[in-house]
Amino acid sequence: MGAPRPAAFGILPSPMIIDGKLIAAKVRSEVAEAVRALGAVGIAPGLAVVRVGEDPASAIYVRGKRKDCEEVGIRSVEHHLPATTSQADLLALVAQLNADPTIHGILVQLPLPKHLDERTVLDAIDPRKDADGFHPFNVGALSIGIPGTPRPCTPAGVMRLLEEAKVDPKGKRALVVGRSNIVGKPMAAMLLEKHATVTIAHSRTQDLAAEVARADILVAAIGKAELVRGDWIREGAVVIDVGMNRLEDGRLVGDVEYAPAARRASAITPVPGGVGPMTRAMLLVNTIELARARAR
Ligand code: NDP
Repeated sequence: MGAPRPAAFGILPSPMIIDGKLIAAKVRSEVAEAVRALGAVGIAPGLAVVRVGEDPASAIYVRGKRKDCEEVGIRSVEHHLPATTSQADLLALVAQLNADPTIHGILVQLPLPKHLDERTVLDAIDPRKDADGFHPFNVGALSIGIPGTPRPCTPAGVMRLLEEAKVDPKGKRALVVGRSNIVGKPMAAMLLEKHATVTIAHSRTQDLAAEVARADILVAAIGKAELVRGDWIREGAVVIDVGMNRLEDGRLVGDVEYAPAARRASAITPVPGGVGPMTRAMLLVNTIELARARAR
């Protein structure tokens, strides 16, 4: 993954493809090293994953998380509760995990069945065990710059991709399309922290094409297949595509029209194989950081 080649004879250089799989593997090997170091001082990092009901996508995600934990040596414990679980029983489990000294990180897999209130459940997790970084305390900590608190995995993974691609956001115009609590808003906060000039676009943005055309760094987190047209991209921009959209023909595509965007970008993430693997890897990083923080 070298620097992009300079343009010559009016031909645009091919972009750097930011390889999320490769970078996630590097992150996992760093985590495995950290697990060994913690082991040497008698700490075995533990992650509890709570899944309620039979959502098929959640089952796949949780299996992936367990496999990642096994690979790096983090002890993972899955609590799979029936879809009929009451809010009180789920909160009781969270309280039990909060009090369990062998558990350093807790993750409640979303979405929860409709009769359960996600916000109440997430708020019940001890912020010092909040593996996803969704607790209001940790959201606030990111916003006001308290260091050492867990951060939402997807935007944290994007920041690591930018770092590995040697893209410094300082002074750059960054556009985040999407303002969800799990991706768009924390993404904007992290880019701002790195001194980008940040714009957030959303479904009520008047002229998305014009916003995209101004961006040096574009992060698309919309959930609409190829909504961002390739010819909107500013020449030389860095394009990070968080979107994962399954087409009717079974293909997985991002929120950005990849091929034409790649012709204009200086660096771009593929879908799949860009942001997705990093989201998983950053959960491991958060778990290690929580275990380290407890050790301190
Ligand atoms: P949400 O549905 O929570 O948020 C989507 C955002 O996109 C909203 O803020 C919405 O605006 C905005 N939006 C919708 N339509 C438009 C439009 N026409 N123009 C501009 N903005 C628009 O999604 P998430 O943030 O949870 O996820 C976004 C995408 O990222 C999805 O494809 C998801 O699958 C993917 N994802 C990928 C991950 C990974 O690891 N690769 C992890 C998490 C998510 P408004 O607020 O006004 O409604």
